[in-house]
Amino acid sequence: MRMYDVIEKKKMGGVLTTEEIEFFVNGFTDGSIPDYQVSALLMAIYFQGMNKEETLSLTLTMAKSGDMLDLSEINGIKVDKHSTGGVGDKTSLVLAPMVAALGVPVAKMSGRGLGHTGGTIDKLEAFAGFSTSIEESKFINNVNTIKMAIAGQTANLAPADKKLYALRDVTATVDSIPLIAGSIMSKKIASGADAIVLDVKTGSGAFMRDVDAAKQLASTMVDIGNGYGRETVAVVSDMNQPLGLAVGNILEVKEAIATLNGEGPEDLYELCLQLGTQMVRLAKVTDSEEEARKMLEATITSGSALQKLKEFVEAQGGDSASVDDPSIFDVASIIEPVKASVAGYINHIETEEIGFATMMLGGGRETKDSVIDLAVGYVFEKKLGDYVEAGGTIAMIHANDMDKLKESRTRFLNAITIGEVAAEKPALIKCMIK
Ligand code: URA
Repeated sequence: MRMYDVIEKKKMGGVLTTEEIEFFVNGFTDGSIPDYQVSALLMAIYFQGMNKEETLSLTLTMAKSGDMLDLSEINGIKVDKHSTGGVGDKTSLVLAPMVAALGVPVAKMSGRGLGHTGGTIDKLEAFAGFSTSIEESKFINNVNTIKMAIAGQTANLAPADKKLYALRDVTATVDSIPLIAGSIMSKKIASGADAIVLDVKTGSGAFMRDVDAAKQLASTMVDIGNGYGRETVAVVSDMNQPLGLAVGNILEVKEAIATLNGEGPEDLYELCLQLGTQMVRLAKVTDSEEEARKMLEATITSGSALQKLKEFVEAQGGDSASVDDPSIFDVASIIEPVKASVAGYINHIETEEIGFATMMLGGGRETKDSVIDLAVGYVFEKKLGDYVEAGGTIAMIHANDMDKLKESRTRFLNAITIGEVAAEKPALIKCMIK
């Protein structure tokens, strides 16, 4: 087989066979096919697309390029949840304990922050001593005993995706539905869960700004998961503003703890209930969505989800005292209001820019090796549709450096549009794909 012929075939709109897909993915991973030929093929895929069978073959070939975790020693139906990435998205910290408190095994692989989006692994490191690089045997044991574990992805999980993603990043071929779907689902399949709930974000802070494109991505991923025998459901949810009020690692952990105490923002709680309902359903605890929702609500009112977070933090070596007393967490040295210059309604938030403004405070990585300042970020007081007076507070900024604060605040304010007439608020849930 020649790589030239594979490129030519896709360029002309042909359908690649599984052998051809395995040939280029494995050849690129082992170094026998050069970057420039794979770049040309990626661009051909970008323009010509891939059908269902091709996308499934691509996903499975990437999943099998490294370790395939075997979680069969975990009793019950293991469910995983994955978000395509957003700003202020601390859902996993609330949702996983809620679901685990109902006895559903949650075996979750999470990532670090990527670009303007935050990552669960960074947030968990706010708990002193917490380890996200636990051995596979401990991961399995923790899920069996306390029903939840969250670990960072191992180095050898879908290495083909790692290489292909890096190449896509520099060849303007990231935003292709089959390539994104294959990338995400290869890692989910290799992580070994039996059932997967996807939170596909759409809007100004998401990868997929357009709702229709997000729906298409969601249904492609659901087809892949189901096609491989992993029952998969996707919720397409809004990311036209940060989820909840807090953006920044420790600030988000505190908001997650407040939500587990029944005092969190409504949008965050509602999204957890929606995603949790699907996780509980896929775990076959109940077929009734209404009943699943009630069971999840009870984990908050009874305090069992909060208790589960404490057990989980301790089981991974962290200090759970901060769950009872969040004032233990580090606090930024400067906390100031960010004020509106004119009165009116918050009509648009360029959410990606809010993520970048948080990064500028030190809350995200500029390079792979950057050390994150966990205490910095923003806490919103006004969100889409809210009225703010001239000189009124839009958010509180938490910073540890005055120069960074000034730069970040300018970027933050440029991302907010205030109008005289209130625009319609976006719906939190766009659709569900089963
Ligand atoms: N996240 C991934 O893991 N891969 C993509 O291609 C996009 C987002």
